[in-house]
Amino acid sequence: MMRILLGQTLTFTADPFKVPVNEAVRHEARGAVAIEAGRIVAVGPADDIRAAYPGAPVTDHGAALLSPGFVDAHAHYPQTAIIASWGKRLIDWLGSYTFPEEARFGDAAHANEIAARYFDLTLASGTTTAVSFTTIHPESVEAYFAQAQRRGLRALAGKTCMDTNAPGDLSDTAQSAYDDSKRLLERWHGVGRLSYVITPRFAPTSSREQLAALGGLWGEHPEVLMQTHLSEQHEEIEWVAELFPEAKDYLDVYDA
Ligand SMILES: [Zn+2]
Repeated sequence: MMRILLGQTLTFTADPFKVPVNEAVRHEARGAVAIEAGRIVAVGPADDIRAAYPGAPVTDHGAALLSPGFVDAHAHYPQTAIIASWGKRLIDWLGSYTFPEEARFGDAAHANEIAARYFDLTLASGTTTAVSFTTIHPESVEAYFAQAQRRGLRALAGKTCMDTNAPGDLSDTAQSAYDDSKRLLERWHGVGRLSYVITPRFAPTSSREQLAALGGLWGEHPEVLMQTHLSEQHEEIEWVAELFPEAKDYLDVYDA
C-alpha cells in the first residue's frame, strides 16, 4: 500500500567531491517521501508528492528531518559496555578494557544482551546499517546477526580472528579461525540483509599462518568483504614494523 511521510527532506544527488556541495544535496523544508511495499518510490516537495498520489494515507512529522539511514562503516559492538572508558593509548586500552570485556562473549546470553543493546542504540540514532567487528567467539557473531535480523537491519560482520599477542582466553588458531569463519560465512552471508566480512583483527594479533588461512578463505569467497585495522597510532606502526620486518610497510603485511 502506498503511504506518504511529510517533513523536511534531505537527499543526496551527486558526489560532493565531484560537484559543488550545494549541487550535491537537496533540501526541502516542506518535503515528502512516498513509500510502497517498504520501498521509497518518490521524494520531493510535499505538494507535488501529495498531488501525484492522491488518497494515500499521510503521516505528518512536522519540522522533523526525514533522511536516509546512517551507515556506520566501522564498529566494535562488543565494546558497547565500555564506551567512555578512560582514554589510554591503543595498546594499553585494548589490554585494560577491551580484552577483558571481549572475553565474556563466549557466553551466548551476554553476547545477545549486548548485541540487542547495540542495535537499539544505533537505531535510535538513525543508523540503519552497521559493519562491525565481533570477538573470537562464534557466539558473538551469531548474536550480532540474529539481533540485526530481528530488527530488519542491514548488518555486516565476521568472527574477529586473533592467534598471537592476545590473552589465552581470546586466542584462536590459524585452523580454527579458518574453520569457524567458513562455517559462519556459509550460515549467514546473503541471509536477508546480512553479509559476512572476513575479519583478522589487525596485523599484531594474527600470525602469518592465520593471515594466509584467511586470505585463502577470501580466495574461495571473493564475494564477501574483508575488514581489519591499519596505522592507527605510532606505537602500533612501530610494533608492526618489528613483527613483520619483511614487509615494506604496514599495508604490505596484508598484501603479501
Ligand atoms: Zn576498530
